[in-house]
Amino acid sequence: MPSHFPPPAYGEPYLLTPGPLTTAYSVKQAMLRDWGSWDGDFRAMTAELRRQLLALAGDVDGSFDCVPMQGSGSFAVEAMLASFLPRDGKALVLANGAYGQRAAQTLRYLGRDHVVIDKGDYLPPRGDEVAAALDADPAISHVVAIHCETSSGILNPIEEISRAVYARGRKLLVDSMSAFGALPLDIGTIRYEAMVSSANKCIEGVPGFGFVIARKSELEAAAGRSHSLSLDVHAQWAYMNKTGQWRFTPPTHVVAAFMEALRLHAEEGGVAGRGARYARNRDVMVAGMRELGFETLLSDRWLSPIIVTFFNPAHPAFDFQRFYDLMKAKGFIIYPGKLTVVESFRIGCIGHMDEHVMRRVVEAAAAALAEMGVDSAAPPAAAIAERAKLAA
Ligand SMILES: *Cc1c(COP(=O)(O)O)cnc(C)c1O
Repeated sequence: MPSHFPPPAYGEPYLLTPGPLTTAYSVKQAMLRDWGSWDGDFRAMTAELRRQLLALAGDVDGSFDCVPMQGSGSFAVEAMLASFLPRDGKALVLANGAYGQRAAQTLRYLGRDHVVIDKGDYLPPRGDEVAAALDADPAISHVVAIHCETSSGILNPIEEISRAVYARGRKLLVDSMSAFGALPLDIGTIRYEAMVSSANKCIEGVPGFGFVIARKSELEAAAGRSHSLSLDVHAQWAYMNKTGQWRFTPPTHVVAAFMEALRLHAEEGGVAGRGARYARNRDVMVAGMRELGFETLLSDRWLSPIIVTFFNPAHPAFDFQRFYDLMKAKGFIIYPGKLTVVESFRIGCIGHMDEHVMRRVVEAAAAALAEMGVDSAAPPAAAIAERAKLAA
C-alpha cells in the first residue's frame, strides 16, 4: 500500500524533532498567498481557528475561549503565566526537565513568587507529592505543570496532578505545548484554568504563533495583570473579540498554513487519530531501535508518543556528531539529548510521517552504526543504573 506520507517536498530531510517538524506539502502550499490582516477574509480565518481549537479542547458549553498569541511557544507560556497568576499569587512549578525549568525562570523574570518541585531529568511529579506540597504551603495559589516534558519525552500524569490540585482548592495552568492535538486534554475530563500550545507541534503547522485556551472567568480576571503590552492575554482577547483582529501584525501565512493543518488533523480523525498515528510511529521506531540494542531512558509506562530518549551506545566507536551526520545524509534529522547525567539522543515521533517512515529511520540507524563500526548499541552500565532509579 502506498504511503499517505510522501517524502518532504523539496528533498529536504525529515525532521525527527518535536517542532519545527515535517509538514505536509499542502500546509507549505497554503502560504503562497498574502493576506491583509484587517481584511474580512483573514478575520474570518482567525475566528474559525479559535472555534476549531476550542472544539479540540472539548469546550462544549462555551465556558472557555481561545486566544492566539504571536511568537514561539515560550512567548505564549510567558503570556499565560503573567496573565493568570495574580501579582500577589504564588505558583508551584512541577519541573522534570528543561521546559519546567523554563517556566520557573519565566516566573523569576516576572517577579512572581514561586516554589519548584524539581524531579531532575525525567522522574514524573506525582499527585501525592503535589498534594503534600500544597498542604505544606497555603500561600500557593496555582500549580504549573508540563503535560509532555519534551526534553526527555516523558508523559507526565496530568490527570492525577489536576485531581490533587483541585482537591486542595488550587488552580492548574498547563504547558501542553508538545501534547495538545495528539493527547487528550479534554476540558470535561481534566480540570484546568488555562493551557498553552503552539502552531508547530502536534497540529503540524509551521512556527509563528502560540495559543492560550482559558476559562472565560479567568480571562476576565486577568485584566491589568500582565507586565507586558504584547504578551497581555486579556488585552489580546478583548481586542480580538471586539474587532476580530489580532492587536499587532499577525503571522498571516502561518495562520493560513495552520488552517490547512487543522483540516488535515480533522481528516485524520482529530486528537484520537493523530495520537494513534504518533503511537504507531513510536511503537515501530522503539521496537526497531531496541532490536539494534538501543535502550530507552524511560520504561514503556512513561514513554510519550511525542519524542523518545535513547542512551548513547557504550561502544568506543560511537560518536554522536558522526551518528547525527550519517543520519542526516540518509534523510533524517535527529535531536541531541538533554540529560545531565548520561549521554543520550532523541528521536521525535511527531510530524507528517507514518510508521513506514519510522521503519526507514531504524534502517538508517542500523546502517549508520555499521558505517561507524559499532557492532552493539547497548548503553553503558551507568545509564542502566540511572534508569533503575526511575523504576524504583
Ligand atoms: C516546544 C515547547 C515549548 C516552547 O518552545 P519554543 O521553542 O518557544 O517554541 C514549551 N514547552 C514545551 C513542553 C515544548 O515542547
